[in-house]
Amino acid sequence: MVPPTAAPKRGHARRGEGQWALGYREPLNPNERSKKDDNPLNVRARIESIYAHGGFDSIDPADLRGRFRWYGLYTQRKPGIDGGRTAVLEPEELDDRYFMLRVRIDGGALSTEQLRVLGEISQTYARDTADITDRQNIQYHWIRIEDVPTIWQKLEAVGLSTTEACGDCPRVVLGSPVAGISEEEVIDGTPAIEEITRRYIGDPAYSNLPRKFKTAISGLQDVAHEIHDVAFVGVVHPEHGPGFDLWVGGGLSTNPMLGKRLGAWVPLDEVPDVWEGVVSVFRDYGYRRLRHRARIKFLVADWGVAKFREVLENEYLKRPLLDGPAPEAPAVPYDHIGVHKQRDGRYYVGAAPIAGRVSGSVLVEVAKAAERAGSARIRLTPQQKLVVLDVAESDVDALSADLAKVGLHSSPSPWRRATMACTGIEFCKLAIVETKARAANLVATLEERLAEVNKQLDVPVTVHINGCPNSCARIQTADIGLKGQIVTDADGVQGEGFQVHLGGGLGLDSGFGRKLRGHKVTAAELNDYVERVVRRYVEQRTEGERFAQWAAR
Ligand code: SF4
Repeated sequence: MVPPTAAPKRGHARRGEGQWALGYREPLNPNERSKKDDNPLNVRARIESIYAHGGFDSIDPADLRGRFRWYGLYTQRKPGIDGGRTAVLEPEELDDRYFMLRVRIDGGALSTEQLRVLGEISQTYARDTADITDRQNIQYHWIRIEDVPTIWQKLEAVGLSTTEACGDCPRVVLGSPVAGISEEEVIDGTPAIEEITRRYIGDPAYSNLPRKFKTAISGLQDVAHEIHDVAFVGVVHPEHGPGFDLWVGGGLSTNPMLGKRLGAWVPLDEVPDVWEGVVSVFRDYGYRRLRHRARIKFLVADWGVAKFREVLENEYLKRPLLDGPAPEAPAVPYDHIGVHKQRDGRYYVGAAPIAGRVSGSVLVEVAKAAERAGSARIRLTPQQKLVVLDVAESDVDALSADLAKVGLHSSPSPWRRATMACTGIEFCKLAIVETKARAANLVATLEERLAEVNKQLDVPVTVHINGCPNSCARIQTADIGLKGQIVTDADGVQGEGFQVHLGGGLGLDSGFGRKLRGHKVTAAELNDYVERVVRRYVEQRTEGERFAQWAAR
């Protein structure tokens, strides 16, 4: 391990990047200072003993806008502040007295009991709000600080937690929603996800990273592994059998980069140790001086994969990794929607809300419907959808009908199926534009206007709507990616709108959408614009041509 007082090495090319391993321990920005002043995990005790009793005004600002995140808490945006003022107001002017609370659901895995408790918490403490995020979390709004300790008790009673749901730490671990039951998966990554969360989440040794750290583990390529800080992707080694291909350094936001293969094959039981090695490289060598360069992708880009692997093996694992083959991308991306047969002969049913928006009441109804169908297991997906597992063939129709009654469709239109949206201006302090309601309006419009065209879409066109450049809903990897910003309409009037990115994707189409100069739409033009693009694609595409291929012509 790196001694905290080690002297800086002379002549290092990246002097001043704030890398602990090179001796630069002095905090170089306010975020680093806050983490050094007090380990963010300690804020829980203050919430329980002080803030929950003293109320919003008793909260230390350094905790409010910094350390609270380590427990999934962000202040939400004060209602009524338009997106044009986001960048000019001070943080405290944007703060509402209520919180967004994110519950981490590693692998998206829930029992029906857990789902019911999540729904009941929403009904009691969150004004019935609940969104399924594209990181398989549940996100509440309107949370009062006074209620947080009780919410934690209720969550923890069923094995759920908000620990490290946000903050500069290991966030929720993405996993295949159909791990262990899919007929196509190479290997079930669930044991590795469970072991990583058991060993390392809430461990102070990994709670002060340079920035957030996102993990994906799947034996099926269904968790957007290319855009994670670290990912383990199922692959069969010719001699050793099923295991995982190791990727590092992916991430979107304002400097998007795709993850890179280290060329190493990792057996299932070694995944937690290798994960610990990678996160330790990031903790010790990651750039802490400038916040916008503090993700692992910048380190990987500067070092290259050979050096990253060498440091991982020599300094942390103390052994070489086995070389391994690259996984082949699936012909069609997985989205888990519809009725599918499991390995054991039962079925899973994937159903789509619009852009992840559900409610506590809907979650409670889903738990009841699943149990009536004999299921005790639910999964949330990285596409903001929901899957009920372990359903007997004879119960599938009744379950599908029950889900449809609460707005969750198992044979949805391509638009409901493939549209995602981030939180947006309704609650997010960084937002410039509204997203969720706009997604609902877009889906309804396209369902009506493109009913004939829909039948010709063998693979849905993905539409991702983001409220600002941060790309929480993955602007750059959608067929049609929409980045919220203020735009000027034909009459010179400024208002909400979007920069368009066309033809991005993952898997076979792995790459970022093209951002055409001047390719912007106002919010008012959005539905017409998307309709026009889709009609043009359908008219011009050759047999089997995917949207990304067409857009790249
Ligand atoms: Fe907020 Fe921007 Fe992320 Fe949307 S993309 S949730 S607006 S930070």
